[in-house]
Amino acid sequence: MHISLSARLSHSPHLPVSPSSPLPHSLAKLVIAIYPGSFDPITFGHADIIERGSKLFDRVIVTVVKNPSKTPLFTVEQRIEQIRRSTQHLPNVEVDSFEGLTVNYAKIRQAKVLLRGLRVLTDFEMELQMAHTNKTLLGEIETVFLATSNEYSFLSSSVVKEIAKFGGSVDHLVPKHVALDIYKCYASRNQIASNPTLPDAALRTNHLRTQQPSETTPEPQE
Ligand code: ADP
Repeated sequence: MHISLSARLSHSPHLPVSPSSPLPHSLAKLVIAIYPGSFDPITFGHADIIERGSKLFDRVIVTVVKNPSKTPLFTVEQRIEQIRRSTQHLPNVEVDSFEGLTVNYAKIRQAKVLLRGLRVLTDFEMELQMAHTNKTLLGEIETVFLATSNEYSFLSSSVVKEIAKFGGSVDHLVPKHVALDIYKCYASRNQIASNPTLPDAALRTNHLRTQQPSETTPEPQE
């Protein structure tokens, strides 16, 4: 759901704004943050960053980055839906996707901030390099890092997938609807693996499938 900035402002009972009237100084500084990532799938760690970000910024746009060089477990559409359901209680959070340079997307969405989460030192090295690179591409963009909450410092989408792949429970790591999607997905993969003679048509109509047959072989990477 996209609510334009002007629509949002004009709905405020205390702030009558017409397109021709200049914004009061404080409102001209509305800050939009983009939270880009793979979210394959969204975890409680991501959800925590989104929730805390939504309290810091006027709008947070969670953006599923389409990365053709990765083999995801879930399609972009599935990931968008999973994030939407996980953030529906946050009115200033929007979910979208894009392919290409994050800074180009930020420019289009008039975002001044890139929101990222930091867990461990190894995150920091890569994130800092990315933040500096983005700054060279778009001078006015600022990357804001939120430190992970203690209880999620070990948590990543790959950890979740690794546990689920071997039949473990991920109920404590991801929202309930996401856990169900994951269980269905691996049940489907195991079904395909244990019965490779299953006709192609049967695979195509199997609602549990998330990838095309050619994409089922490689393991998903984060
Ligand atoms: P990417 O492929 O861009 O790393 P991810 O979905 O893995 O996409 O992560 C998106 C962002 O969320 C990154 O900044 C990552 O550091 C952050 N993140 C992921 N898991 C956690 C967590 N448990 N706590 C805090 N931040 C996290």
